[in-house]
Amino acid sequence: MSKRILFAILCIIILATPILTVDASDNSLYLIRIYTSSLDDIPIGFDIVGYKPNSWVDIIIPSYNLNLIDGLNYSIILDDVVAYDNSIRDGYHSFDEMELELKEIASSYPNITMLTSIGRSWEGRDIWCLEVSDNPGVDEDESGILFMGLHHAREWPSMEVCLYLVEEFTSQYGLNSTITNLVDNRRIWIIPCVNPDGYVFSHDQGHDWRKNRRFFSEYNAYGVDINRNYAGSCNGIAVGMWGSGGVISHNPYSETYCGPSPFSEFETQAIKNFVLTHCICASISYHTYSELVLWPWGYSYTDKTPDDVLLKKIGEDIAYNITRQDGSGFYTPTQSSKLYTTTGDSDDWLYGYSFYVLGRICFPYTIELCSSFHPSYRALQQVFKENLDGAIVLLRKAEEIQSITPMVRPPTITNVTYISPGSYILSWKLGNPGVDVKYFQLEELEGYSGLYDNADAGNLWFFDGFDRCSSKYHSRDYSYHFSSSNVYGYMSSIYPLPVNGSMNLSFWCLYNLEKDRNYGFVEVSRDGRNYEILDSFTGSSNGWIYKNYSLDSYRGSSLYIRFRVIKSVSGNNDFFIDDIYPVPFFSSINVISSNITDYSYKLYNKSNGVYYYRVRGYNDERGWGDYSCIKSVRYRIDNPPYLKIHGPRIGLVGDNISYTFNVVDIDNDNIFLYIDWGDGSNSVWIGPYSSNEDIRYSHIWNKSGLYILKAIVKDEYGLESNWYRYPVFISKIGFFMLQPNLKK
Ligand SMILES: [Zn+2]
Repeated sequence: MSKRILFAILCIIILATPILTVDASDNSLYLIRIYTSSLDDIPIGFDIVGYKPNSWVDIIIPSYNLNLIDGLNYSIILDDVVAYDNSIRDGYHSFDEMELELKEIASSYPNITMLTSIGRSWEGRDIWCLEVSDNPGVDEDESGILFMGLHHAREWPSMEVCLYLVEEFTSQYGLNSTITNLVDNRRIWIIPCVNPDGYVFSHDQGHDWRKNRRFFSEYNAYGVDINRNYAGSCNGIAVGMWGSGGVISHNPYSETYCGPSPFSEFETQAIKNFVLTHCICASISYHTYSELVLWPWGYSYTDKTPDDVLLKKIGEDIAYNITRQDGSGFYTPTQSSKLYTTTGDSDDWLYGYSFYVLGRICFPYTIELCSSFHPSYRALQQVFKENLDGAIVLLRKAEEIQSITPMVRPPTITNVTYISPGSYILSWKLGNPGVDVKYFQLEELEGYSGLYDNADAGNLWFFDGFDRCSSKYHSRDYSYHFSSSNVYGYMSSIYPLPVNGSMNLSFWCLYNLEKDRNYGFVEVSRDGRNYEILDSFTGSSNGWIYKNYSLDSYRGSSLYIRFRVIKSVSGNNDFFIDDIYPVPFFSSINVISSNITDYSYKLYNKSNGVYYYRVRGYNDERGWGDYSCIKSVRYRIDNPPYLKIHGPRIGLVGDNISYTFNVVDIDNDNIFLYIDWGDGSNSVWIGPYSSNEDIRYSHIWNKSGLYILKAIVKDEYGLESNWYRYPVFISKIGFFMLQPNLKK
């Protein structure tokens, strides 16, 4: 064997062998329990792995940081986390073993399972989803429930519980009547490992790790906390949005790094795409540890979801069916912010995006499994059995959840039909079906201006954590300013900006934000709920700088504008904005009708002008839904168009005779043409044509006789010309000598 071949084989062996040894610094990780009733006692940046509200907090820290918790009341649970992991690792599936087991189950139960990869991780591993249902892959209007494991790499039991559910739902089908009934009447999706790379790094390769394994070369840092990378609550509350507040960080080295933008990660994108393409009415995301059942909101201690009563009741039902590992009662049910507030987790997004953006109901729960860090596989058996009971509670409740009536989503104003001078019909369509809409409200907004806002008035924005200040400005005498005493702040436009035609949003800003820690954002939203980030700011602007963003991709809609700042560390956090253009303003908003039962409304006696309309729907269960985008109607009573016809006055039966219609509108409005050939056939309205255009049409008359060819034109506002009459004599033979002296 040549040395070269030997070397190649050695390389393959080395590369194929999981690296179980770890470096020295990893070997000295401590698992510490701090006895405290408040998270405020925990130094910022430590990695919370377990928590009992008002009792204790478990953290993992390197031994060299033990001095930072001097003075706190704590005990050491593990003095070498990685060594402990090494001792129990084999009890847990490796990533490959998990993959193999899913494939084997899918081939053993082909009639009730379907295994699909819903996406790939950064390192190219599949994110597997196994559906268990009587007709997998087929939408039979059954309630869909999603189970997810292992968002966080080190939370190994969360994947094992999912595998246990897979095993039970398949092997007990046809044997256990409860499971058979649920599989027959539900679509059950199980994604055991949302974070494959993190799991391989943590479990298979022996590192203590939480995030995914994306590499940021500019920071020489690895990983985003996938459960901080969802878009947030999508309910219009700035502090609920991705990257806003709670236990998150914009620091790429942090264990709770939320990523460069919402859904920046392949893993969260895969979940998002899955949610958007499947009807999911409930979910459980498994984490470890603390023996808790949690529900949204996670971003706020005080804000409740619109479904809080039932969300809480079902959460309690789930919890009271899961016995704790020590047998002392059940899992603790609580709104997830009781643990600590956070943003960008899967539950807030699943609930908020479903409710406010999709107009659907989804009840998402997070279960913090286990009473300790990594129980032995043997101790996990109790966790499995108890959590199967918890999962069955949610599966049973799924139909009740699916039958809840959602809010009326923003309708879309689809059409303006001009019917006569001064009157037109607005029509709209519903944003979501099955909402029992009772009536619509139509509003007319008047006196629109897109203002140049130099911050001297300040009446165009809602403020929270922002104010007007005179200490710095781009143009005299004020600017808008993030007030540095707050952890976060925003200012959002009171009115939406109609985006008609090509339009840019511009402003001047001056900022000095602690680089890669504190951030400013400019963002826009069609519905005032779900905001999209146009740009983000960190570090120093070095003086006033001009910013300019095309809004062309929002053309035809209307946008709320928002500036938001998040201060995750103390230090530099100045953010000034000035000379914003355009900022929308309307002088008045008139309710035209609040009890429209049709999907259209006729408006009369309108004089020349531009009008703006928006509509929203009402149902008994939720009250008024959100407004549609604003539709602008440019109405003018002006000069009617007119036309002339050129072409033969006589012709033969069966000949294709060509005519030219010259159409003119002195206001240069678009023109529509209607031709009546005089033999019972007509062209219907054709167009639009521009003014002074020659339009050619030909016609065949099949019988001899005198025909009155007639035509009429109207402009885009419905203003019509008179009929233009053009007699044509059609004969069987060509007696041109007898051409009559026909006049119009
Ligand atoms: Zn977790």
